[in-house]
Amino acid sequence: MITFLARVVLLVQPLILLSWLTSPAFAYTALSDHFLKLVPSGGDDFDIDNGKLLAPILIPRVPGTPGQAAAQEHFVNFFREELPSWSIEWFNSTGKTPVTGNREIPFQNLLFKREPPWVEEGQSNLLTLVAHYDSKISPEGFIGATDSAVPCAILMHVARSIDRFVTQMHDEMNALGEGGTVPMDMGVQILLLDGEEAFKDWTETDSLYGARALAERWETSYHPANSFYKNPLDQISMFVLLDLLGAPNPSVRSPFLPTHWAYRAMANIEQRMRQLNLLESTPDGPFLPDAEKVISRFGRGMVEDDHIPFMRRGVPILHVIATPFPTVWHTMDDDGAHLDMPTVRDWARIVTAFALEWLDMMEVEPKDEVPASR
Ligand SMILES: [Zn+2]
Repeated sequence: MITFLARVVLLVQPLILLSWLTSPAFAYTALSDHFLKLVPSGGDDFDIDNGKLLAPILIPRVPGTPGQAAAQEHFVNFFREELPSWSIEWFNSTGKTPVTGNREIPFQNLLFKREPPWVEEGQSNLLTLVAHYDSKISPEGFIGATDSAVPCAILMHVARSIDRFVTQMHDEMNALGEGGTVPMDMGVQILLLDGEEAFKDWTETDSLYGARALAERWETSYHPANSFYKNPLDQISMFVLLDLLGAPNPSVRSPFLPTHWAYRAMANIEQRMRQLNLLESTPDGPFLPDAEKVISRFGRGMVEDDHIPFMRRGVPILHVIATPFPTVWHTMDDDGAHLDMPTVRDWARIVTAFALEWLDMMEVEPKDEVPASR
């Protein structure tokens, strides 16, 4: 990520806008208060010293180093052991960087996916939850707790929390013979991207290594001619990118008009969870303050991040990034000790609820389940 406002890009591209507006619509049912109360926070699993999800990633994770391999192992083992219904795929590429000379540095994106069991290739639309897992090469020993260890751990928590509902939904749809229509064939994928950080200074070629390689490949990975979606980019119903989360008092803005409705859905979840006293943090303002943003204020700028290669190819983007950036950004202080844990757990709740709502899980609301006390 590069400094907010230092690099402002014009957003409004009519052709892309048009393709977003013509993507298929589907019914959207808000979670009930009861379901919101069931959304788990992750609790001790976000502990920075021995929490199951977060602690193993609070290490330097520079591409091509043992720390990167350890982080990969953590993710893969988690899905393999706890979420066996999710497919695991590696997307490998290599690239030269301005500080590593002629050596090819490996960039390894990890893709975890859960589709309805009956779908064929190119048939499902996929809620796509994204974070980068690499850490910056300098300063030496940099951890990147908000950037983006916490977002990665949140996505693991989301996957684990939605899994049983996804199973139930698929089973019930299968029993009723409901699958096979485009809006119903919803799945979810988690992309943990590599090589987001610049090795020297942020440029078009020194940044977003993993995201650029994946978006480029997907653009020309055509599905069979009779598929509803032409390629994997086309299957992305929303590209939800989390970044720089975990510091206190975050403010996530809404830069993109075409996906502002999705931003509002997430902001609405935050507001309702606060009203229901389901969130722990006590911020100065909402995490997502732009729900009522007026139309004339869109199109003025955004932050460059992993969504760029996808957005340029017409993928709809919801960018969940704190701006201004956390004060610890790109310093040695971006470590576990400087995280605000109530904020971390609240983000885990909000994003989990958003995913459940997106995937229409009111269809399988566990009506008899009693919410645990917070
Ligand atoms: Zn960064």
